[in-house]
Amino acid sequence: MLPFQNGFFGYRGRIAFVDLGNRAVRVEPADPALYRDYLGGRGVQALLLYDHLKRNGPVRDPLNPANRIILGNGPVNDTHVATAGRGSCSFIGTMTRSPEPAAWLPAHAPLFGLLTHASAGGVFPNMLKRSGLDHLVIDGRADRPVRILVSEGRVAILDAEDELFEDVGGAKVPKTASAITDILAGLHPGSSTVCLGPAGWNRVAFACLTNDKHRNFGRGGAGAVFGSKNLVAVTAHGRDRAAYFDQARFQALGKELDGQVKAHVGDSKWTASFRPEAGTTWWLDRAFNGGYLGKQGGYLPWHNFDEGSFDPADFAKVGTEAFLEISGPPKVCSHCRHIMCTRAAQVDRPPYAGSGVRPEFETIALWINCCIVDRDAVFHINHLCNELGIDTMTLGSVMSGAMELAEKGCLAGFKDAPAFGSAPDMIRTLKDIAYRSSPLGELLGGYSDRAIAGVAAGRPAADLEGIARCVTTAFGGLGYAGIEPKVFPGMFAAYATSNRGRGDHTYAWTIQAEEGGLQGAEELAAYVAAGQEGKAIVDSLGLCDFFTEDTASDLFLGLYRALTGIEYTADAFKTCGRRIYTLERRANNIQGRGRIYDAHIPPKLTEPLTRGAHAGKAVDPARHDAILNAYYRKQGWTRDGMVEPALLRALGIEP
Ligand code: SF4
Repeated sequence: MLPFQNGFFGYRGRIAFVDLGNRAVRVEPADPALYRDYLGGRGVQALLLYDHLKRNGPVRDPLNPANRIILGNGPVNDTHVATAGRGSCSFIGTMTRSPEPAAWLPAHAPLFGLLTHASAGGVFPNMLKRSGLDHLVIDGRADRPVRILVSEGRVAILDAEDELFEDVGGAKVPKTASAITDILAGLHPGSSTVCLGPAGWNRVAFACLTNDKHRNFGRGGAGAVFGSKNLVAVTAHGRDRAAYFDQARFQALGKELDGQVKAHVGDSKWTASFRPEAGTTWWLDRAFNGGYLGKQGGYLPWHNFDEGSFDPADFAKVGTEAFLEISGPPKVCSHCRHIMCTRAAQVDRPPYAGSGVRPEFETIALWINCCIVDRDAVFHINHLCNELGIDTMTLGSVMSGAMELAEKGCLAGFKDAPAFGSAPDMIRTLKDIAYRSSPLGELLGGYSDRAIAGVAAGRPAADLEGIARCVTTAFGGLGYAGIEPKVFPGMFAAYATSNRGRGDHTYAWTIQAEEGGLQGAEELAAYVAAGQEGKAIVDSLGLCDFFTEDTASDLFLGLYRALTGIEYTADAFKTCGRRIYTLERRANNIQGRGRIYDAHIPPKLTEPLTRGAHAGKAVDPARHDAILNAYYRKQGWTRDGMVEPALLRALGIEP
């Protein structure tokens, strides 16, 4: 491995530490070894959070000033590599918590919130890099509302202007994400802003941060962490670009790589070929009826994960074709090329007429799981979530749980509980959550175990188990993604072991492999582990999940060397992914995570599907246990899911 030459290439080499509690800013040169071993973005942020936990002990309450949130970028950001606009945000999550004993769950161990990484496009990550920073580390809590400005290498903590707020029901609440963005763009022309919305200010456990109006650091509660710090927004502005180690070589290899991406997008055998037109929504047809590539469907969740199949006439109202009808021109992340999965969208008919972006597959799928089959309403609610600063996916799981609780009469004590299939109910409840404007909104805006306790309060003890059964996000769940968890055991293991929480689908994805016949416990475990480590690399570089090329190929590693001056073998590069994933897991061990969390199966997921191609399937606890054992062996963790010091030393995480 070559040493860094003449300082930093590909990086800016500076990390800013902001303490909002005493309004202190410290900008430090980065340690080159940090970038060599952890690449950038997510990897470097994991180490910065791990150090924080080692020094201070677990963050027992993620809404306490002791939590740390980090915004940043990776070495490939702001280059011409396709999808090189994705930035990183890491923090201890507010949704993945279960700190108190849970009477409905005999096997329970306190969980204080998981190390969460969220990735988002938009201009902000690249603009932060141009402003001279690789990472902005934010600690403490301001004593009054503030915002941060990073401009041409300088970091300032400013009082948040009154015009960023409005009066809502007698409370001073930040305006919507797009209003804040517009105001700050006016104050700082040419800048880019990441901000919370009203939900983050009100510390909703699944509040997101929004970049440039519709690109979100979505999952885990980054918006709530901003709110807990009295922090409204971070604005970045700069003009400088990072230097290249060998720019001519980078351009030559970049051209070759770009040609490969383009060829794969143009090849109908690759899933990437569907993205420019249908984006992620092509999965709707695939999951429902096997459309695209001729596979079997029957795994689009319905009625709070009770079924994977439902009335085709209802599906037609919210399937891939329905969303193509309202799709407009591409509206993509900064630096996206060829793959270009997102589009503008417009609805012309009342009551949901408006313009914005097309919702993603996961959003639509999880709202179908609420039995919402009104395309225009889905578009409108997605727009509302962007404006209010709410993660659409976790909202879907929270909402379907609330709808089932209402159906079973468990929310009789609350006014206006939402019913399955009612878009107006969902809109009203969403606003109640974001503004905490009703007792039910207040309850549903917290982490799930708190909601279970609130619903159960005053009811017979015998009701508790039935209440908890409706809530698939219980025991610190992030919320399952839009693929029915009962159908694919490997995907269920991916959901169970994702470092950012139960239900996350982005760290490993097994569907095509399982449809292709992959099924042994060892094989599935190895596939999940490899996916997780690969994703850790992609996130750390500053690329998107949908980047089509192998980052351990000779071509990519040559490009990386031309950018940074760092030379890797394929094995050494892959070891970076393993190092990052293991480090995150160790941080989560400190936060209380072990086998008990990974092994938990929401009771309703053990009840078989009754309809469609996968009727009879359910999560099999014995099978999940076997895959988990194989997975821990593969990762080198203990049987209890713990990372031991010897592994930390072997991977160079600890001396
Ligand atoms: S493929 Fe989609 S999510 Fe990825 S960078 Fe492009 S627009 Fe963004």
